[in-house]
Amino acid sequence: MLNLTYDLHIHSCLSPCGDDDMTPANIAGMAALKGLDAVALTDHNTCRNCPAFMKACREYGVLAVPGMEINTSEEVHAVCLFPSLEQALAFDACVYERLMKFPNNEAIFGKQQIYNELDEVCGSEPNLLINATDISFDELWELVRSYEGVMFPAHIDKSANSLIANLGFIPPDSRFATAEVKDLKKLHQLKISNPYLDGCRIISNSDAHYLEHINEPRLTLQVEERSAFGIVEALL
Ligand SMILES: [Zn+2]
Ligand SMILES: [Zn+2]
Repeated sequence: MLNLTYDLHIHSCLSPCGDDDMTPANIAGMAALKGLDAVALTDHNTCRNCPAFMKACREYGVLAVPGMEINTSEEVHAVCLFPSLEQALAFDACVYERLMKFPNNEAIFGKQQIYNELDEVCGSEPNLLINATDISFDELWELVRSYEGVMFPAHIDKSANSLIANLGFIPPDSRFATAEVKDLKKLHQLKISNPYLDGCRIISNSDAHYLEHINEPRLTLQVEERSAFGIVEALL
């Protein structure tokens, strides 16, 4: 078994709210500088900066996990991670079909920039990526598993766009085995009101939209294999 320091929830400049300096290469470079072992790129409803991110991480010697932070039909945010870029991009195509299409207004929401593997802007997404999809939280686990990925509810301690805030409770027939808590000091209280969490692995990620907010290498995840597959398996 290996213990890897991690940050598995990071936004690039393709998320409208992500800082323009959050280029895939800058994220990889900052992860390397901080000494993180594993990082995931999880833009809102898209994986399309993952090809550039995977390449940059390879060059910096950081383990990269391709992913997405999906917005369900109930406006619940959930992080989805995949063992390979191919599976992430196939899931991306499925989600894009089911995204509520509404043109992005860059002046209000920010740019949605796509980077190529040379760290150059090669396009931008015209539809606003933070909208809801028509995928329900209930169907998400099976859908992500069909692409061999793993899903965990994001920032469950937050008062907006979280499983507990938006549904009011954790559905007892849920399948997820990992939950993300932003402020670990709230975990004790969360477990009292949501006993489902007692059976969960709890992780904490930065949800960074700015380079300086990426996690310090403090928390570790135990994996059997140092790969994106290994990370997905560890969170199942
Ligand atoms: Zn979120
Ligand atoms: Zn996020």
